[in-house]
Amino acid sequence: MILAEHDGKKLNNVVFNAIGAAEIFGGSIDLLIIGKGVDELARLASKIDGVDKIIKFDAPHLEHPLAEDAANIISEIGQDYRVILAPHTWFSRNILPRVAALLDVSMISDVLKITGDNTYIRSTYAGNVHATIKSDEPIQVFTVHSSKFKAVGLNGGDALIVDSKAPEPLNLSRWEKERKIESDRPPLINAKVVISGGRSLGSAEKFNEVLSPLADNLGAAIGATRAAVDAGYAPNEIQVGQTGVVVAPELYIAIGVSGANQHIYGMKDSRVVVAINNDPDATIFQFADYGLVADLFEAVPEMATLVSKT
Ligand SMILES: Cc1cc2nc3c(=O)[nH]c(=O)nc-3n(C[C@H](O)[C@H](O)[C@H](O)COP(=O)(O)OP(=O)(O)OC[C@H]3O[C@@H](n4cnc5c(N)ncnc54)[C@H](O)[C@@H]3O)c2cc1C
Repeated sequence: MILAEHDGKKLNNVVFNAIGAAEIFGGSIDLLIIGKGVDELARLASKIDGVDKIIKFDAPHLEHPLAEDAANIISEIGQDYRVILAPHTWFSRNILPRVAALLDVSMISDVLKITGDNTYIRSTYAGNVHATIKSDEPIQVFTVHSSKFKAVGLNGGDALIVDSKAPEPLNLSRWEKERKIESDRPPLINAKVVISGGRSLGSAEKFNEVLSPLADNLGAAIGATRAAVDAGYAPNEIQVGQTGVVVAPELYIAIGVSGANQHIYGMKDSRVVVAINNDPDATIFQFADYGLVADLFEAVPEMATLVSKT
């Protein structure tokens, strides 16, 4: 069973990678959709290749599924499954540990590779150590590092949709509000091009002023280092790294980013990495396909102008 992350209308793209991971086990695959008014979403999801069943819990109190309620649902039906998995995102990281606790099994997080026989390679220490783990649990509960698994298609599945009655809300926590960044840019997690800025940008105004023209001209999403977020230059939700979002775009441009392990963890699967830094010894250059030793305040506006002309 795969826990689907969605916004009520669309599945998060990484769900397709999680289904790809589930296929490795070779059994039937059920996709769990928890939400409110998700009939159409379930219908679309039923077309995903390789999915046998969509299990839908649709109720007003599940509009923003709270971790306790979601974990309660999954643990109730989870007894019937051999494997419960989800993409390694904030959403699932809040839910699956609770599921594992309720099912009284241990959980494995951030699986990079499934090698068979309930054995996994997972990332620890900000990706510096890869641990091989064998689980003897009767139900395997884990999250997967999405970029390491091939996404399945949406070409001609014909999954059965099963409506299930949601349990009453547990009311252990409540949904307050959601603050979304209104932007025409692609969402960070799915973007083909990401440009990330570091502490060196110096202020929120400069962060925006320097990075936005290049991002707009490239159709890119903007990311940030934790130092930039902590300094208040960028919102938390665009932090790339171990304690932020993990991205794997076609092109990642790191601007004034030192290349700390915790940042590298979040972008090292990018196909092409470009780094701009005025320190020729900056660690980020070790991870870059193309490096430019330059002052970002000169180089980035120049790049934005050149890109707009192509
Ligand atoms: C538990 C833990 C979790 C963490 N999680 C994350 C995480 O998820 N993501 C993350 O990013 N960090 C994370 N960090 C923080 C991480 O260790 C680094 O401190 C952080 O990534 C550094 O950010 P930075 O590169 O912006 O800043 P700095 O390290 O200060 O680097 C700034 C860089 O900009 C360059 N520079 C300065 N001026 C210019 C200029 N004018 N032109 C060009 N280059 C210039 C400098 O040479 C330097 O390389 C975590 C740390 C811990 C302990």
